Amino acid sequence: MNDSDGKLIAVIGGGISGMTTALEAAEAGYKVLLVEQEPFLGGRVARNSKYYPKLCPPSCGLEINFKRLARNPDVRVLTMARVASVAGGPGNWELSIRVEPRFVNDKCTACGKCADACETKIPNPFNLGLDQVKGAYLPHPMAYPLRYVLAPKVAAGPDGAKCKAACTCDAVVLDDKPQTIKVNAASVVVATGWKPYDAAKLGHLGYGTVKNVVTNVAMERLASPTGHTGGKIVRPSDGGPITDIAFAQCAGSRDENHLPYCSGVCCMATLKQAVLVREQYPDAKITVHYIDVRAMGKYETFYAKLQQDPKVTFVRGVVAKVSADPATGDPVVESEDSLTGKRSTTKTGMLVLATGIVPAAGKDDCPLPLDRDEFGFVTRRQSKHGLHGAGCASRPNSVAQCVQEATGAALKAIQDLAAR
Ligand SMILES: Cc1cc2nc3c(=O)[nH]c(=O)nc-3n(C[C@H](O)[C@H](O)[C@H](O)COP(=O)(O)OP(=O)(O)OC[C@H]3O[C@@H](n4cnc5c(N)ncnc54)[C@H](O)[C@@H]3O)c2cc1C
Repeated sequence: MNDSDGKLIAVIGGGISGMTTALEAAEAGYKVLLVEQEPFLGGRVARNSKYYPKLCPPSCGLEINFKRLARNPDVRVLTMARVASVAGGPGNWELSIRVEPRFVNDKCTACGKCADACETKIPNPFNLGLDQVKGAYLPHPMAYPLRYVLAPKVAAGPDGAKCKAACTCDAVVLDDKPQTIKVNAASVVVATGWKPYDAAKLGHLGYGTVKNVVTNVAMERLASPTGHTGGKIVRPSDGGPITDIAFAQCAGSRDENHLPYCSGVCCMATLKQAVLVREQYPDAKITVHYIDVRAMGKYETFYAKLQQDPKVTFVRGVVAKVSADPATGDPVVESEDSLTGKRSTTKTGMLVLATGIVPAAGKDDCPLPLDRDEFGFVTRRQSKHGLHGAGCASRPNSVAQCVQEATGAALKAIQDLAAR
C-alpha cells in the first residue's frame, strides 16, 4: 500500500468498530491501515458467546467482515501492533507503529503441526487465562488472520526448534524481531474499545474471595462453544450443574465509589446470559438483582419474554454484600428489595457480577493527543483535528450501535481527506 500521497486513514483497534470503519472507508475507495494489538481481529465480540438480541454466534457478523477484508486490497491489516509514538499534526499525523514478533509468517496454513510438536503450555489468552493452550497456538478457531502464533518463551526455548522442524510450510521464524513501521495519516479513527472494570475492586461482592463468583465477561467464555468448557455453563468450583444462579447488576457501575455512569450493555448481557442458562437448565432458579433494567427500544421484548419465565425472579435493589456460606462456601447474597423494603440473605450456587466497562486504552496505550472525558472515553471535540473516536472507545454501546457510529466515523475520516 502506498500512503505517500498522505491520503491514508489509520484505524486503531480491530474490533467490530475498527473493522467497520476500515471497511466502510476502503469500500468507498480510500486506503486504510488497520492496527490491532492482538494477533487476531474481532475484539471483545469474538469472545462473546452469542449476540443479543438475536442470539446468533459472533461468527455470523465477524465472518462477513473477514470476507470483506480478505477481498479488499485497500485495507492493510497489522496485528500485534500498537501506535508507539505520534508526531505531526492535523492533516498529517505521523504514526510510529511497533509490531511485535509473531514468529510465524504468512506461509502458515494453520495445519497445527507446530502445536503438536510444542510441549510448553501457557495460559490461554483468548479464554482470559481460564485454561491453558500450547505455546504454539491458533488464537481461536475462526481467527483472522488464520495464522498460528508462538509465545516468545517458546520461540526462544527448545520447543521453538521443535516447532520449526515440524512445520512443513517454512512458516516458523524463530529470529522474528519487533518492527517499527512509520506512516503518515490524514485522519485517525480510534476504536480501541473497552475492558471490564477491575472486579478485584469489588471485594464486597465476593470476587476473588468467595467461590463461584464470576464476572459477566467470564460467563461469556463459559457459555461459548469456543470456551474452556466447550459452552457448558457449569460452576467453576466443581464443574457441577447450575441449579440456582444469581446476577448482580451494576457491579461497579452507577456507583460513586466506582463508575458513576451506566455501562450501557450489562442489563442486556445479563438478560441474554439468563436465557443461555435457561437453554441448558430448564429447571434452574435464576435471580436478577437490579437497580432498573435498561432494555431500550426493541430490546424490551427480550426482557418481557424473560419476565414470563416462572423461575426467573427480578429483585429491585443492588446487592449490598456477598459472603461465603459457612457450610458449603457458596455465595450468600445480601440485598434489599427497594419495592417491598424487605431485606434478604439468600444462598445461591453461582453469582455473576455484571461488571461495568471502561475504555481499554489510555494515553499510554494509544499516545494520540485525544480529547477524553473524565472517564477516559474519547469525545467528539477533537474531530476537527482529524482524530475521531468510534465504538466503545467513545462510550459503552451494543454491537449494533457501535457499527452505526463506526460507519459515521468512516464518513468523518473521508471528509478529512476531502478537505486536504
Ligand atoms: C458481558 C458482555 C456481553 C456483551 N454481549 C453483547 C451482545 O450479546 N450483543 C451486543 O450487541 N453487545 C454485547 N456486548 C457489547 C460488545 O461487546 C461491544 O459492543 C463491542 O465489543 C464493542 O466493539 P468495539 O470494537 O468498539 O470494542 P472492542 O470489542 O473492545 O474492540 C477493540 C479492539 O481494539 C484493540 N485495541 C485496544 N487497545 C489497542 C491499542 N492500544 N492498540 C491497538 N489495538 C488496540 C483490542 O485488542 C480490540 O481488538 C457485551 C458486553 C459485555 C460486557
